[in-house]
Amino acid sequence: MLNWGSGANNPKFKRRRQRLVDTLADKGIKDKRVLEAFNVVPRHVFVDTALQDRAYKDTALPIGKEQTISQPYTVARQTELLEVKPGEKVLEIGTGSGYQAAILCELGAEVYTVERHDELYKKSRSILRELGYSVRAKLGDGTMGWSAYAPYDAIVVTAGAPVVPEDLVDQLALNGRLVVPVGDDKRQEMVRIIKIREDEFEEEHYSDFKFVPLIGKKGWQK
Ligand code: SAM
Repeated sequence: MLNWGSGANNPKFKRRRQRLVDTLADKGIKDKRVLEAFNVVPRHVFVDTALQDRAYKDTALPIGKEQTISQPYTVARQTELLEVKPGEKVLEIGTGSGYQAAILCELGAEVYTVERHDELYKKSRSILRELGYSVRAKLGDGTMGWSAYAPYDAIVVTAGAPVVPEDLVDQLALNGRLVVPVGDDKRQEMVRIIKIREDEFEEEHYSDFKFVPLIGKKGWQK
């Protein structure tokens, strides 16, 4: 799937990727398919050259426009909670660098992603394309989802919301999973909502995370 001509297959980074995978497993990530996706996607390609040496540390890094590529553990945990199966339709709100979208592609998902910053939208699209990942990307406010392609088997929000955005719940398919961090500007709980029947949902909460804010009509107001 990857176009290795981009320099993504540098052996130094390959070794560091394996060590990051070991760290994620030590921190409790169990899903083998998720860990394998982290072993394949070249995170260093999604950050500026000056930051590439830090790309395989388990930390968030700046990507411009005051945004971040999330901490790998956070991406792994959200991905694990999504329980993506090959061929499923997955919507991501907050494309950012494009890294999470690439991980979802490696899991065999059909990926739709929305980003509100023009610069990040364009840059992530070009990196994903260069690496050979095929995603449908849109520039805009993702707090209302992307109704044109709904319903989705899984929806992941990669920015912190004040409340669960209702439009996203409405765009879930039967057995669909929505994973969204919800809280104030300091910390958020990861909420997973599963649509178990028409108009019947299960809700689970997972411990604290820290995200940049989800800004938009059904999110935080700027
Ligand atoms: N998934 C990203 C990655 O792998 O790099 C992480 C991105 S960052 C933690 C969150 C992103 O959400 C930022 O790029 C931010 O601009 C975006 N965002 C915030 N509010 C948004 C909204 N209403 N619609 C779409 N994107 C939004």
